Amino acid sequence: MRTVLITGASSGIGEACATVLASEAKYRLLLCARRLQRLEQLKQTIQSSYPNCEIFCFELDVRDRDAVEHNLNNLPEAWRQIDVLINNAGLSQGLDPVHLGDTGDWDRMIDTNVKGLLYTSKYTVPLMANSTNAHIINIGSIAGKEVYPNGNVYCATKHAVDALTKAMRIDLLEQGIRVSSVDPGMVETEFSEVRFKGDKDRAKTVYTGLQPLSGTDIAEIIAFVLSRPAHVNINDLLVMPTAQA
Ligand code: NDP
Repeated sequence: MRTVLITGASSGIGEACATVLASEAKYRLLLCARRLQRLEQLKQTIQSSYPNCEIFCFELDVRDRDAVEHNLNNLPEAWRQIDVLINNAGLSQGLDPVHLGDTGDWDRMIDTNVKGLLYTSKYTVPLMANSTNAHIINIGSIAGKEVYPNGNVYCATKHAVDALTKAMRIDLLEQGIRVSSVDPGMVETEFSEVRFKGDKDRAKTVYTGLQPLSGTDIAEIIAFVLSRPAHVNINDLLVMPTAQA
């Protein structure tokens, strides 16, 4: 059994990862996000299908450095060795040219997508010390490979994730920790609603004329990346809806 920590497990890709990995019966799940109730609900749903799947949920805002340190250093005894970290928590907010951008949105994106990933990695790596098959998967984005109109700060954060994946792969080589990134194109989750601050109608227009990926599509690819033998690392996978240019 490998123990997997998933950040941002309360919806979308993170939630789908929990469900898909539980179905494989070879993972124990540590699930965190800010909405603890959603995590507890997910735990119930998963365990109603897979009663033997061990799950521990905790509330965590990855932007809060002290909270990340405290929570990871004080996990229950049975959960203090981690084999897999899926750095998934992230968001996009606003879609404006730089001179009209909301600086609060910028802070939320940089603090979550970049600093949150760094904090979680920093305090998880020591918990991987005794793992014989440790792996970190960062969720990047097509926005970490290209830029698009008004995507400025979000794209910058995902370019940073791309750089951090490469840097962490080098830094953690000696410890035998594999580092990969999975970079999705458009996935239908709560992402678009968060981007447009709860405007569901505007959020839906994003998918007009195109079949987006589902969280499960990405989760199944993550499960494949994790399933490779320890001497094989998939460095980086860009996964797009077929119809997305
Ligand atoms: P969702 O909005 O459905 O999920 C985002 C998750 O991140 C939620 O579980 C949310 O939980 C969590 N989260 C957000 N902020 C924080 C925080 N400060 N601390 C802890 N958890 C946080 O979107 P997706 O599932 O689509 O997004 C997952 C990842 O995929 C993100 O990194 C995103 O950038 C990336 N991505 C998404 C794409 C898409 O089209 N959907 C495309 C490319 C990449 P809670 O609110 O409970 O804290």
